[in-house]
Amino acid sequence: MTRIAGRLFLIANCNSVAFSLPFRYNTAMVRDSIRILQAQGHKATRPRKLVLEVLEEIEKPLSPYDIQGILRARGKYLNHVTIYRILDLLCSLNLAHKMLSSGGFVKCSLDAIEGCHRFMVCQHCGAIREFADKELCQEENAFARNFGFHTEHHLSEFSGLCSQCYRK
Ligand SMILES: [Zn+2]
Ligand SMILES: [Zn+2]
Ligand SMILES: [Zn+2]
Repeated sequence: MTRIAGRLFLIANCNSVAFSLPFRYNTAMVRDSIRILQAQGHKATRPRKLVLEVLEEIEKPLSPYDIQGILRARGKYLNHVTIYRILDLLCSLNLAHKMLSSGGFVKCSLDAIEGCHRFMVCQHCGAIREFADKELCQEENAFARNFGFHTEHHLSEFSGLCSQCYRK
């Protein structure tokens, strides 16, 4: 929980300076992602590592053009089609997610947790909190079964105020 709280705090305070954040990405988490990538039979290419590093470092939804701009500012160039393909791959492996409301991409922040990964998004400060709840998924499956529908995946996003903004 501490890690998530720390993450939330950081996002809440870096909203307007997203691209000038200090270099603070968690190398261990990037390494974990690379391990998962390789375990699924994908090469840990330099472009894939670069995209993972940017997602890990800038903890807010980014478009492929945002990622391209951040890399360019560091003297690294990736074609935006390449970035799109990498994001597609990362999303298919649950290493990154595409936000429903903004369409931006974020790196997955959860360890192996059962249930679909979803987000709570603060409309005031932009803080994002990822969560997964197996029981919520089961309830939704039961709800859909009443309509004869077989659910394979749930996509949802909560919109509202984070605990810090709600208190103000
Ligand atoms: Zn996730
Ligand atoms: Zn907030
Ligand atoms: Zn689910």
